[in-house]
Amino acid sequence: LFLSFEGIDGSGKSTQARMLAETLRAQGREVVLTREPGGSPGAEEIRALVLQGDPDRWSARTEILLFTAARRDHLERTIQPALDRGAVVICDRFADSTRMYQGLSRGNLRAMVDKLHRLMIGIEPDITLLIDMDPEVGLARAKGRQGTEERFEDFGADLQRKMRAGFLNLADEYADRFRVIDGARSPDQVAADVLDVAREVMAE
Ligand code: C5P
Repeated sequence: LFLSFEGIDGSGKSTQARMLAETLRAQGREVVLTREPGGSPGAEEIRALVLQGDPDRWSARTEILLFTAARRDHLERTIQPALDRGAVVICDRFADSTRMYQGLSRGNLRAMVDKLHRLMIGIEPDITLLIDMDPEVGLARAKGRQGTEERFEDFGADLQRKMRAGFLNLADEYADRFRVIDGARSPDQVAADVLDVAREVMAE
């Protein structure tokens, strides 16, 4: 089973991914908790190339190639082997983040992202949990975290709003695999909804 979490910065998706992993592990399941960009040694190196240093180092198109290269390595080294042995894979961001960030933030490059995805990646998560929340709240939360070495995308409220709307549109576009969860509640309340969705898909 392959689950992904998506949402704007500060939505709490990483916390939720971790909480779900702990709950499922406590039930005796093998869980591989991983993240993008990153999730394999090579992909983590690409993450550093993209997220650290000068934000204008790479053109928009080069950045799409780097994210796709990182995803290919992550898929080959981490995700596919885990799925093959029957583990539950929980991924903090996957291709939907590239559809949004690289596809929308610097012009409309969505078609290019999708084309490369079909060519080089091919798979989508079985279920994608979109932790939806007001960008102002997400912004405040994400800013509270700054001080890590990584560049954060331009944290302007406009971009956050655009990303939120984009993710909600994506949830409609891929309605069969997306579940939208209200992230503007306590972590435990959100986690209860997340667990309901996970149980539902595991029972199928
Ligand atoms: O999810 P996480 O906080 O680790 O993401 C790190 C940064 O990378 C965030 O600022 C996010 O907006 C950005 N990002 C991106 N393109 C992606 C995935 C993440 O620009 N495909």
